[in-house]
Amino acid sequence: MRTLVNLTVLNKTTSLKNLHTFGIEVSAQEVIELQSQEQALNFFKNEGKQFQHALILGGGSNVLFTENLQVPLIRNSIKGIGIIDESEEEVIVGFGGGENWHECVKYAIAHQWGGIENLSLIPGTMGAAPMQNIGAYGVELEQVFEYLEAIDRMSGDLVRFYHADCQFGYRWSIFKGNLKDKYFISQVALRLKKAPHQLNTSYGDIRTILNKTEQEATIESVSEAVIEIRQSKLPDPREIGNAGSFFKNPYIPQSHFTDLKKEFTKIPGYPLEGSDQVKVPAGWLIDHLGWKGYRKGDAGVHQKQALVLVNYGDATGKEILDLAIEIQQSVKEAFNIHIEPEVNIYHG
Ligand code: FAD
Ligand code: NAP
Repeated sequence: MRTLVNLTVLNKTTSLKNLHTFGIEVSAQEVIELQSQEQALNFFKNEGKQFQHALILGGGSNVLFTENLQVPLIRNSIKGIGIIDESEEEVIVGFGGGENWHECVKYAIAHQWGGIENLSLIPGTMGAAPMQNIGAYGVELEQVFEYLEAIDRMSGDLVRFYHADCQFGYRWSIFKGNLKDKYFISQVALRLKKAPHQLNTSYGDIRTILNKTEQEATIESVSEAVIEIRQSKLPDPREIGNAGSFFKNPYIPQSHFTDLKKEFTKIPGYPLEGSDQVKVPAGWLIDHLGWKGYRKGDAGVHQKQALVLVNYGDATGKEILDLAIEIQQSVKEAFNIHIEPEVNIYHG
């Protein structure tokens, strides 16, 4: 074991199979775990330049490794939750970047703080949530985001990023763009609402479940509905390797959508307010081409959700990637739509 400025260096095993949800057998040169903001600051101040190519990992639920990593891996295990500020209506809560996202949702609900209940059961860490502005069932992280603290990986300086600095978009932030791999997100602060809560039940499936009971909807019941829907159609990574939706939903011009609608009368589309763009569910496109349930070796397309690629056991990252490329090409040929991966792909 190597000793680095008071760090836990976990290089007893370099296998990453249990450190990411695709469960692919790959290795890293070394795995370093940062357990506090102070330790992380110390590390990047003293070792940042040496580790500038290291890969930062949270829960590993949005990555695909196609080869062994030729770089070390830095895991964010910074824990801690605390109130930063509060009023009668709102509370600003700070979360360590290594906190499990769903545990934070449960913590908020237990304290009657609303705003993230629609994002129940998303795997991964708090620190990764702003990376792609996680979203589900009509809510995105940016709606409750107050600020984050991140460490400049080269200088070791702690920098605060407010909403306007993050360039949040659909499954997007500046940390996937110009600032990719430049910062280590160590803390996230969210602005949550105290009761009475404003619930978002705009997604049809949520409303259908809530309508089954006569009781008034609450943040608990919305969370339970989301969990019920997710468990009914998404594979549990503890049972089947996957990284959630492999592709982002594409946006296409209204004229293109109108043309497609003539040929594919059932194609769904959600117009983007204030633009001529229409969001088309990538899952529908892939399903329509017959990919749902497809399996080649241990790489496949999930039986209940065509947007999720799965590892049935011993698939390699390359096999998953080859399947993704085949799907991408077939969607392009059939609909003239390019679908982009949402998952972060690493080639060694
Ligand atoms: P990782 O996979 O560890 O990392 C993702 C990326 O962020 C990598 O590029 C990594 O280098 C970078 N990164 C991670 N932590 C940090 C940090 N502290 N500082 C700097 N960079 C960092 N996503 C949604 O948006 N909505 C969903 O509904 C959703 N459902 C999912 C369902 C399933 C079953 C699965 C497996 C995934 C789902 N996802 C969903 C994708 C994923 O869970 C989220 O994107 C999640 O936020 C990833 O967190 P993570 O900690 O696992 O990130
Ligand atoms: P779904 O309900 O079958 O709907 C398919 C797609 O249509 C969704 O991706 C969604 O886009 C869009 N959609 C549905 N109703 C909509 C509405 N009322 N307004 C605008 N867009 C609408 O989707 P699903 O696959 O079961 O997923 C449900 C939710 O969980 C979605 O929000 C999805 O993004 C999220 N999810 C994300 C991941 C991931 O890894 N990123 C994995 C699983 C689930 P949006 O995706 O833009 O919402």
